[in-house]
Amino acid sequence: MNILYEGKAKRLYATEHDDELRMSFKDDATAFNGVKHAQLAGKGHLNKEITLLLYRELADAGIETHFLRELNDTDLLVRKVTIIPLEVVVRKVVAGSLAKRTGLAQGQTLDEPLVEYYLKDDALGDPMLAPAHIRALNLAQPDEVTAVTQQALVIFTHLETFFAQAGLRLVDLKLEFGRADGKILLADEISPDTCRLWDTETGEIFDKDRFRQDLGEVIEHYQQILERISPHAKRV
Ligand code: 5GP
Repeated sequence: MNILYEGKAKRLYATEHDDELRMSFKDDATAFNGVKHAQLAGKGHLNKEITLLLYRELADAGIETHFLRELNDTDLLVRKVTIIPLEVVVRKVVAGSLAKRTGLAQGQTLDEPLVEYYLKDDALGDPMLAPAHIRALNLAQPDEVTAVTQQALVIFTHLETFFAQAGLRLVDLKLEFGRADGKILLADEISPDTCRLWDTETGEIFDKDRFRQDLGEVIEHYQQILERISPHAKRV
């Protein structure tokens, strides 16, 4: 099989169609830029199921993404896009690096969603960028930054409402976008590896912070996310 790209949690394979790729979810869990690494049996399947369900929710809300269809237990068929090398993070609640960087209290709700941009570059440790850096490094055109920001906010708000039905608080979310046919499309995955989800009532952590912080029962919590959101999915 022709692997085009291997990341920490996924592989991308070529297909018989030039404009389509197979996105395959791995069981690998990594944190702190790959310093911490483990195999968590079943994670690839769960993240594929959660990504699939969320991509369908977004499609039903009229939000275009790279998703085409489900292939098997761990793989999705996606449109080939040229990835914009930015990690776009949307936050509604203070956590993680925002708490460290600003001193704001963990768990504090922000007045409005905050959008941040990071350079997608593991060797540099994904440094945060201002829009001026994005221009200076010629990573994206100003109108693309505007489009990505607007889409990121719409996606976050939609998913925040969706997760709330399942008793989960969407704290923050990392998105990646790509270019295809003159359009900007959401790409990559949306899973507990790429967002923070806390129980609305108790604050219990359900996302990859369980792995990062050695809280245990990582897979059990990913499974619970899927069980909680499945009844609220418009399509099964
Ligand atoms: P923070 O900047 O607080 O570490 O992360 C903010 C959000 O973006 C969290 O939901 C985190 O999981 C996600 N995130 C940020 N950088 C990465 C990354 O390189 N890989 C993954 N999987 N998620 C990231």
